[in-house]
Amino acid sequence: MLPVQEKITYRLVRSRRRTVMVKVEPSAAVVVRAPLSMNAQAIDFFVQKNQQWIVKKICEARARRSMIPPRTSPRQVYLRGDLLSWGWQDADVILPPEVTEANAHKWLARWQRRQAESHFGRVINEFLPHLGVSALRYSGFSMRKMRRNWGLCGASGLITLNEHLIRTPDICIRGIIVHELCHLVHFNHGPAFHAMVADILPDHRVADALIDAWTMILDEKYES
Ligand SMILES: [Zn+2]
Repeated sequence: MLPVQEKITYRLVRSRRRTVMVKVEPSAAVVVRAPLSMNAQAIDFFVQKNQQWIVKKICEARARRSMIPPRTSPRQVYLRGDLLSWGWQDADVILPPEVTEANAHKWLARWQRRQAESHFGRVINEFLPHLGVSALRYSGFSMRKMRRNWGLCGASGLITLNEHLIRTPDICIRGIIVHELCHLVHFNHGPAFHAMVADILPDHRVADALIDAWTMILDEKYES
């Protein structure tokens, strides 16, 4: 918990906007966006006035962060919730000798994609039978690197999964895949949809909470 007397420090971004707004980023950093003409005291006053809400958001962001194993070296990649080391020897992921330091990240991106493709395929096949006859609407899956979405379900029955989903724990991968598969039956987020998700994946709430935490890695700028 943030001590009450701790003064909130924030990054100020001024622009041609008409209102002031505050946002707590996944890293727990506070960003205040303000109009060009607004004076510093008024901005400070605004932040103080919203202190309680900001502190709550900072605590939530820190709690989410603590659920993710932190990288301790640049030579680490996330895979299914674990941090794996990579290198040319004595590592979890061994790179072929012809791969150089300069193109290691490219190789790792391709490696991650292969892992994602086979694992997502397995999980989809595991859950498809639960959809009954609606499974016939499934027309396959594709993968993309997305900044804002973990998964999408198209009207044509094609499921698109975020390639980075392979970095998150298995429960998250199952949660997202079950969510998208249930859209093959219910193309909305109504009660029938939620009932179906709960029926197929009873611990979907754990998946939802955890995936929220992992969403911050989508904003993290590192390899691939
Ligand atoms: Zn949905």
